[in-house]
Amino acid sequence: MKMYYDSDAEISQLSGKTVAIVGYGSQGHAQAQNLRDSGVNVIVAEMPDTSNWKLAVSHGFTPISAEEAAEKADIVQILIPDELQGKVYAQSIEKHMSTGKALVFSHGFNIHYKRIQPNSEIDVYMVAPKGPGHLVRRTYAEGAGVPALIAIYQDATGKAKDLALAHACGIGAGRAGIIETTFKEETETDLFGEQVVLCGGVTELVKGGFETLVNAGYQPEIAYFECLHELKLIVDLFYEGGIAGMYYSVSDTAEYGGMTRGPRVIDADTKKRMEKILQEVQDGSFAEEWISENESGRPNMKKLRDEHRALKIEEVGKKLREMMSWIKK
Ligand code: NDP
Ligand code: MG
Repeated sequence: MKMYYDSDAEISQLSGKTVAIVGYGSQGHAQAQNLRDSGVNVIVAEMPDTSNWKLAVSHGFTPISAEEAAEKADIVQILIPDELQGKVYAQSIEKHMSTGKALVFSHGFNIHYKRIQPNSEIDVYMVAPKGPGHLVRRTYAEGAGVPALIAIYQDATGKAKDLALAHACGIGAGRAGIIETTFKEETETDLFGEQVVLCGGVTELVKGGFETLVNAGYQPEIAYFECLHELKLIVDLFYEGGIAGMYYSVSDTAEYGGMTRGPRVIDADTKKRMEKILQEVQDGSFAEEWISENESGRPNMKKLRDEHRALKIEEVGKKLREMMSWIKK
């Protein structure tokens, strides 16, 4: 695997070009400011009078509509929520994607699942920072960066990869490391990771552990500390030293208990269900479900959100976090 850095790119690939950042949210506000600070000519599209429109103004941009931005720019980067991109592209952007322009994403969902089918005369590439927007901005301002993935879906000009590398360096990723992937790989691994491990899997593990202790009569506050609060300490150890680093730092009792009991929680049946979930990502059925959920006004999402908000662990955690002055920002 090759890692690219600032020295592998020429930021001058972007000089004389205008980059439109459509959507000034988590990624938009970070990438727009970083590119501008890297000397790139950036324009911003937002919806009038929203809080992010005001934020863009306070950062010295003059937001315009997505349609106007797409018309003016050479490179159009779509950073509105994934579930809205198809509609906004069709209504406001597509007609301005003339020969030689570039269309850019930070996640492959809409291209990979064909919600957006760009014409063959333009470059289509991805610059996907591996971190939330506020980190992308903060690390850049400190002189560092968040690593990023790049991918080329369509290379109409023969320059798509040069542009993608320059673009990634413009947001600061060349200071941390840039890896090349494909739209398929980025989209499928991203969805699988958030569903099975990062968001879905971890949440259910925490809920299950908490409920088991509380149902057995232990104090909910103690269960909260054991099953949710301490997770951060463990994840920090993973981040710094992998699984071995974590097992090195905990007690031998914890290490032995973990290595013998962990596989009884996540067993061969769990892995079969992981494979099934991966299949639903690969065959597009998850994407279809999520699109139709949005089209019907998100009934299931609303119900699930309400159920999560009403959980006992949330009630206990809210009280405890208020008492822990050191975790407040
Ligand atoms: P956010 O929801 O934070 O921001 C989207 C912004 O787009 C909002 O400010 C929204 O306005 C605005 N918007 C919505 N519709 C329009 C429109 N028609 N014209 C102009 N602006 C519009 O999104 P994210 O930054 O989280 O996600 C953007 C992309 O980045 C996605 O593809 C996502 O997958 C990807 N990504 C996100 C990461 C993250 O950490 N968040 C990490 C890596 C990739 P309003 O607030 O008024 O609704
Ligand atoms: Mg992700």
